[in-house]
Parts: sequence; structure tokens; C-alpha cells
Amino acid sequence: MQINDERRLATLNLALGVQVYGEKLITLEGREYRVWDAFRSKLAAAIRKGLKQVPLTHGSKVLYLGVSTGTTASHISDIIGQEGVLFAVEFAQRVAKEFIDRVARHRQNIIPIIEDARSPQKYRVVFDKVDIVYCDIAQPDQTDIAITNCAYYLKPHGFLLLVIKARSIDVVEDPKKTFEEEISKLRNSGFRILEAIRLDPYDKDHAMILAQKMPSNL
Ligand code: SAM
Repeated sequence: MQINDERRLATLNLALGVQVYGEKLITLEGREYRVWDAFRSKLAAAIRKGLKQVPLTHGSKVLYLGVSTGTTASHISDIIGQEGVLFAVEFAQRVAKEFIDRVARHRQNIIPIIEDARSPQKYRVVFDKVDIVYCDIAQPDQTDIAITNCAYYLKPHGFLLLVIKARSIDVVEDPKKTFEEEISKLRNSGFRILEAIRLDPYDKDHAMILAQKMPSNL
């Protein structure tokens, strides 16, 4: 979208008139859009940095690990629309409450799950396999957690979008080496790596990995 001579990312607002994190609302030809800030959302940062394939589409089913107060999740909810479903996992009670009040309450395609992503067997409300697992939990074992959740809930040939925060895994190691190690874990667990994008300068020492679950992992 072109705003004041500048190209900006934006999504069609599913909750008319409702802002989530102070983002700009813009009406164009009778439709309301929410500007998507790459400094606030790592998925927007990855798109800005050249992520070629964004597997989200109208009607997608998504399992989101580490939804926090819903900045990125709200844009995913916009993209997948009324036909899609977003299962939103967050283990911090206070944060989850804020997410429900500010985001989920206004959107019928979101199902909040207040659980630890380390125990995917406890998500009783996930009624179907999903097309995409999105994981942004900033934990030292974040890749293992993502792989376990994919084993439970991701469809064959489904996609994993994994945010790797290098400093959560190893504070002293060169981030490049940490990213390579996490990518190897994914390969060894039957994922094909489609893209790996550094998120600097939007998010220092972070990378977004897009991987696909291959049949050997079924
Ligand atoms: N994805 C969010 C966004 O872009 O708007 C930001 C996520 S923030 C970096 C990480 C979130 O993951 C925090 O809210 C934290 O409470 C949550 N989290 C960390 N470990 C978790 C776990 N094991 N299970 C569920 N949530 C977890």
C-alpha cells in the first residue's frame, strides 16, 4: 500500500474500527486497512526483508505458539479471514488475558489456548490438523518445541514459520552458527528448509525460517 509516498504493509481489518497496538487505520475505496509495522511484528519484518513465500491465505488454519498480546496474530487473523482459524497459544496468564480482551474478543476466527507450548497434548480445542505452525516463543528449546507441536498438529506438507532468537539459545555464540544449528535440527526432523531470513535491523540477532514438513516425517 502507498501511504504518503511510502510503500507500507497493511492488512484488511477484520475487526472494523479496532486497533490492536496503536497501528494506523486507513480507509481506501470503502475498505479499512491496518498498517503492519515491521518494527513491531517479526512476520512483517521477514516480508520486508524479502520472504518470498508467505504460506498464509484466506481460510488457512494456523497454530500460533507464543501469541503474546497479539500484534502479529491480529494481522494473521486479518489475512486468513472469517473462513480461517487461528489457535493461539500463550502460557503467561496476564498476557493471555490482555490478548483476549484486546484481540480475540473482537475476532471470531481466533481460539485462545492458555497452555505451555511444551505440552501440546493439552490443547483440547485443536479440532483439526493445521496448514501452518507459527512459533515465536524466545525459549532456548524453541526449535524442539516447534517440532513437537508440528508432529501433533501440522498436516503433511504443511508449513512451519519459526522465529529464532539467537540470544535465547546462546548468548555468546555467533548468531549465524546458532541459526545453522537450529536449521540442522529441523532438517534432521524431516523438514525441508525453504527460506531463512535474518531480521536485522528490525530485530537484532533474530531469523525467520520457513520450512515444510516432508512425508518422511509423517
Ligand atoms: N509473537 C508475538 C508477536 O509477534 O506479536 C511476540 C511473542 S514474544 C517474543 C514471546 C511470547 O511467548 C511471550 O508472550 C511468552 O509469554 C510466550 N511464551 C514463551 N514460552 C512459552 C511457552 N513455553 N508456551 C507458551 N507461550 C510461551
